Amino acid sequence: MTHVAIIGGGPGGYEAALVARRLGADVTLVEKTGIGGSTVLTDCVPSKTLIATSDFLTEVAGAAELGVQVPREIKADMAAVNARVTSLAEAQSGDIAQKVREAGTRVVDGTAVVAGPSQVEVESGGTRETIDADAILVATGAHPRVSPDAMPDGERILTWEQLYGLTTLPEHLVVVGSGVTGAEFASAYNGLGVRVTLVSSRDRVLPGEDEDAANLIEDVFRRRGMEVLGRSRMQSVVRDGDTVTVTLTDGRTVEGSHCLLALGSIPNTAGLGLEEAGVRLDDGGFVKVDKVSRTHARGIYAAGDCTGVLMLASVAAEQGRIAMSHLLGDAVHPLDLRKMSSNIFTSPEIATVGLSEKAIQEQGMLVDVASYPLASNARAKMQGIHDGFVKLFARRGVGTVVGGVIVGPRASELVHVLSLAVSSSLTADQVAGAFTVYPSLSGSVAEAARHLHTTL
Ligand SMILES: Cc1cc2nc3c(=O)[nH]c(=O)nc-3n(C[C@H](O)[C@H](O)[C@H](O)COP(=O)(O)OP(=O)(O)OC[C@H]3O[C@@H](n4cnc5c(N)ncnc54)[C@H](O)[C@@H]3O)c2cc1C
Repeated sequence: MTHVAIIGGGPGGYEAALVARRLGADVTLVEKTGIGGSTVLTDCVPSKTLIATSDFLTEVAGAAELGVQVPREIKADMAAVNARVTSLAEAQSGDIAQKVREAGTRVVDGTAVVAGPSQVEVESGGTRETIDADAILVATGAHPRVSPDAMPDGERILTWEQLYGLTTLPEHLVVVGSGVTGAEFASAYNGLGVRVTLVSSRDRVLPGEDEDAANLIEDVFRRRGMEVLGRSRMQSVVRDGDTVTVTLTDGRTVEGSHCLLALGSIPNTAGLGLEEAGVRLDDGGFVKVDKVSRTHARGIYAAGDCTGVLMLASVAAEQGRIAMSHLLGDAVHPLDLRKMSSNIFTSPEIATVGLSEKAIQEQGMLVDVASYPLASNARAKMQGIHDGFVKLFARRGVGTVVGGVIVGPRASELVHVLSLAVSSSLTADQVAGAFTVYPSLSGSVAEAARHLHTTL
């Protein structure tokens, strides 16, 4: 029997454990904080739970348009919101731990290091254990980047891991960083009724994302009262009593009651014994892997945020599954980022699948583009939805859908049909030809696809 040792119980680790057990391996999973990892305990699950409350309030804010008068004073009870967030995350961690154990995985609570190509050493409550393994999977994740000039104090200067300790709404939250994490929290707190200033070092929010989508979100942010400071690089963040002052590199200052640092992530790879075991790291400390999650060291695989391939829970899980399929001789489909879908949980959401417009341009691929606003969709009108669009990219001549963007409420749910189209190389005509319900937002996906029809 093949013995696999997995370090890290996030989606990269626990999904791998489940696959490895199914394929008949003997699996030991070492986790130092909690099964589910940062995904479940501090990142994805808590943030999306918080966003569920914010989305609800945003919908209520639009009630008058639908003919409903709501009392003026509707606000979130932050202590109750965050209590729900943390208990839901803990329960989810417990559910996953039970599933992993029931599948026959040995779970060890402790901190592991790689002691050699086939050995893992675990330290747990003062005791040490050496685990011999035929293969090791490193899935240790990442942690928030901080700056010596902006040290979190856990009370007013916060990382995203520390936000859930708040029991009252901040009076004025300054969010530093306008990538996905910064934009999602800025949007969430804006929806909760908090004054938010978003400090962005770039020309626009969400740099690197679809330009039309990012511009739309920035417009919505401003319209909802958020102050967005573009081309504004943070130099330092200092707390004085109940005030935090964010100083920008050009000398301007922004004062708030709280500051959220969303400065990106650092891989948890230091001190793990990886390089000594022959694993190569890049300049940022990320583990170098190939498309089947192999590192440079024979028998050592890596998955998830510690590889920096694409820092998403879904990608971490897929990398973990692929690693175990490869190791244990099952059919392997190497990781193909050209077919990936992902979502930014702002309000409205931005869902993307396949190739981006930028990637298409860089590759010199000839495509036809159709963009269709949600505002003209009958269901959107009924529901009071004004912002959003569906954009599709199809290869010129053949019509194969290679990518798409959906901006709108619950875009994360709507995008699956496009994900299917991209992964199955469907043509725009095939997407347009599948029946959609009338009235429905998905009708706009079919409508955009119809715009791509070319007559021979
Ligand atoms: C605020 C935020 C929101 C996000 N929202 C989403 C989202 O909506 N959708 C999405 O797909 N992605 C989201 N992400 C990204 C997602 O959280 C990560 O991509 C995901 O956590 C990566 O999973 P992982 O298994 O690599 O690592 P993790 O989930 O971080 O798990 C790694 C685990 O390894 C453990 N560990 C580390 N070192 C050791 C050691 N030496 N010994 C034992 N255990 C160790 C850690 O304790 C941790 O539990 C979000 C990220 C952030 C920051």
